[in-house]
Amino acid sequence: MEKITSLAKRRGFVFQSSEIYGGQGGAWDYGPLGIELKNRIAGAWWKEMTQLHDDIVGLDAAILMHPRTWEASGHVENFTDPLVDCKKCKSRFRADQIPEENLAAKKCPDCGGEMTDTRKFNLMFKTHIGAAEDSASVIYLRPETAQGIYVNYKNIIQSNRMKIPFGIAQIGKAFRNEIVTKNFIFRTCEFEQLEMQYFVKPGSDEEWFNEWRKRRWAYYEKMGVQMDHLRWHQHGPDELAHYAKDAYDIQYLFPMGWRELEGVHNRTDYDLNRHTQYSGKDMQYIDQDGGNERYIPYIIETSAGLTRTLLMILCDAYDEEKVADKGNDDDWRTVLRFHPSLAPITVAVLPLMKKDGLAELAQDIRRELTEDFATDYDQGGAIGRRYRRQDEAGTPFCVTVDYQSKEDGTVTLRFRDSMEQVRIPKEELATRLRQEIKAYKRER
Ligand code: ATP
Repeated sequence: MEKITSLAKRRGFVFQSSEIYGGQGGAWDYGPLGIELKNRIAGAWWKEMTQLHDDIVGLDAAILMHPRTWEASGHVENFTDPLVDCKKCKSRFRADQIPEENLAAKKCPDCGGEMTDTRKFNLMFKTHIGAAEDSASVIYLRPETAQGIYVNYKNIIQSNRMKIPFGIAQIGKAFRNEIVTKNFIFRTCEFEQLEMQYFVKPGSDEEWFNEWRKRRWAYYEKMGVQMDHLRWHQHGPDELAHYAKDAYDIQYLFPMGWRELEGVHNRTDYDLNRHTQYSGKDMQYIDQDGGNERYIPYIIETSAGLTRTLLMILCDAYDEEKVADKGNDDDWRTVLRFHPSLAPITVAVLPLMKKDGLAELAQDIRRELTEDFATDYDQGGAIGRRYRRQDEAGTPFCVTVDYQSKEDGTVTLRFRDSMEQVRIPKEELATRLRQEIKAYKRER
């Protein structure tokens, strides 16, 4: 993970938040390459969940919600982690994440010092709205995006004439006062979620639950993720959230081991029942095609972290490869094998030399590509070095402009993964790139 963290900083994917002040734990900033990668991951998910499903629509709900929302959802009461502190070294742990023998003996796993009793710690960030800081003005930063969907479900049925089964997708920030935030951007206090809530008729929920498990698994395959690095984990009775009837996590083999990437949950009618109870509003669905039968729908949720997916994509893409045998540092290259549709830069245009009009020709070619592709232009240093810089940024294609280009209008197209080069007329570049992106298959 250190290698990935340092590459992420060096190349402008992710920086520590407020670094000049010593850094803010649990928060990270996404640099020029990071924001491009994040946007592409979000775009791929959005396309998958909305464009490719005519029964799913989008929503962007506010982060600040009426505080009753979180009483209804059970978060005020139940959204807690068990917390223990070491009295000696002052380290803080989640009680469910340290060995049981340490917990039983109240012995710190780091220094052996005495630990406090376990206490419940609510993960919601609380603040105040308005000028008065009294209990009437308490407001929470949302700890999940799901509730914004539930409270709007009737609005969406009415405005968009949705019929069950249907889904609502949302991408947005969520906040949790996490006790332990190590492992880079894996677990942070401010993060983004990719959530889709699918409303179904009670009784059909198990079938839809299985269907969404299948679809979400297929999605990662389509994104080109190494499938032997993914597995399912079913929640045991002691892991199930207060609202869930059944839950499976998709776990990824991160450098620190298997960890949750996405959850697929059968949330039953819990949330809508609670909102009925707390708001006094009728949350029943009226089935006009089924004799006006009324019922509270069951909800199947697919919930992934956007920032956690970004970390997964970085880990999955990271590779070090021996490319020469000269006995020096240049024998090895670091390469990010992003799927071309996710790579922050799709194509870099490099003039072999700055002089003799090559730079101008390369800039013209780049300009022509910018309308359709994310491009970069680099004219500084030896060409081999420039290829390495692009490999490290995960750029799948480089176009090199040389003296022959001036004569016959051809350029070389270099492929990141194989490092092979082909010479093609510059007019064919855009079409060829589109074909290559569509046909991409990761070799290693
Ligand atoms: P964990 O058990 O790891 O705390 P969770 O089961 O509480 O996670 P969910 O509430 O199901 O997580 O959230 C859905 C998804 O949101 C997770 O699969 C994860 O990808 C992402 N996520 C949750 N908490 C965080 C966090 N603190 N930082 C980054 N991503 C998170």
